[in-house]
Amino acid sequence: MTDLLLAGGEVVDAGAGLSGRLDVAVTGSIITAIGPDLDRRGVGRVVDVRGRLVTAGLVDLHTHVFAPGSALSVDPDTAGVLSGVTTVVDAGSSGAANFAEFKALLPTCRTSVVPFVHIGRRGLAVKPDVSTVDDLDADGVRRVLAENPGLVRGIKVRMVSPALQGPGLDMLRTARTVAREAGVPLMVHVGDIGGLAGPRVGPETLDLLDAGDIVTHVYTANPGGVLDADGVVLPEAVAAAARGVLFDSAHGCKNLSFDVARRVLDQGIPLHAVSTDMTLTGHGEIVFSLTEVLSRYLALGFSVPEVITLATSGPAAAAGISSQAGRLEVGRPADLSVLDLVSGDWSVSDSVGASLRLDRAFVPVLTVRAGTVIPPGEAPHPWGWAPTPAEVAKVC
Ligand SMILES: [Zn+2]
Repeated sequence: MTDLLLAGGEVVDAGAGLSGRLDVAVTGSIITAIGPDLDRRGVGRVVDVRGRLVTAGLVDLHTHVFAPGSALSVDPDTAGVLSGVTTVVDAGSSGAANFAEFKALLPTCRTSVVPFVHIGRRGLAVKPDVSTVDDLDADGVRRVLAENPGLVRGIKVRMVSPALQGPGLDMLRTARTVAREAGVPLMVHVGDIGGLAGPRVGPETLDLLDAGDIVTHVYTANPGGVLDADGVVLPEAVAAAARGVLFDSAHGCKNLSFDVARRVLDQGIPLHAVSTDMTLTGHGEIVFSLTEVLSRYLALGFSVPEVITLATSGPAAAAGISSQAGRLEVGRPADLSVLDLVSGDWSVSDSVGASLRLDRAFVPVLTVRAGTVIPPGEAPHPWGWAPTPAEVAKVC
């Protein structure tokens, strides 16, 4: 017996070879059928989604959903199921010393949360996260990984000041050693918010990454990114892409430039994931939701199926959760996103104040998480989920 039928939506999953008007049936927490005009007899609940996009549950590869006593984090369900997103990766908000505190919160979340643990002892709960070699905790990360197989999926390192003036590349080498021992990826923040990274930081960082490692903030305008001073992609970035290093956009407040994005894309560096770097400080300033960030990539030239891939199978593969997320297939967990693709005239900003005009935007309609239907939460703007109307942006 089918519990839930999403009826008549425009299914988009390029990797699964699915597109067009199809029904999706769910029994319990599992997808049990995908096809045209599925039998509705005996179905517990039919939701009419005609004219709407139906995708695998969206995956946000870079968020911050843990921060004891600080304004850094955002509630996991606010970034997650209440915004059309079924899985959020926490990008190193906790280190080994406070991971247990983070883990204790996870059973309260309706959103699937995938932690990457920070190589710094207390993650981002302290500022700065790393100043000296004493702030690194390789053995702690080893212990967290060993005690939490299948939960902690990677290690986070931030190539920023003052860590660059302290342990510097040795921090990355230490994290890399632990990651290789455990068989998990490194997620490496590039782009020094402090502005002090020298010209060799970017190349030397990229040279230390292996297939499956993730460069996050690939479109940063801060020093230490993938472009040289003339805006040319570093040969080390070309080589990294060729050997299978993955690139994530991770918008955030300070690390996305539309100009850098266009230059990097024009020079052939692939993109594997679009993520928010959502925090409370980002929320309400530039980054409002994953769907709004995805809309920017339509304006940057990606097609709808490409953008959906960048927020489903792309990040799921990067986070090592492909068997459970990112794909619409019978037998998989019923994590689904239903979105409207709406037309309008909007203006959004990047981290350096440049604006981008959007004429299409994704808006969350409902989320299915492990078979449960969840409507969106409070919209991030007074006018709803769509980006800032162009005439309002002009006034601001
Ligand atoms: Zn971040």
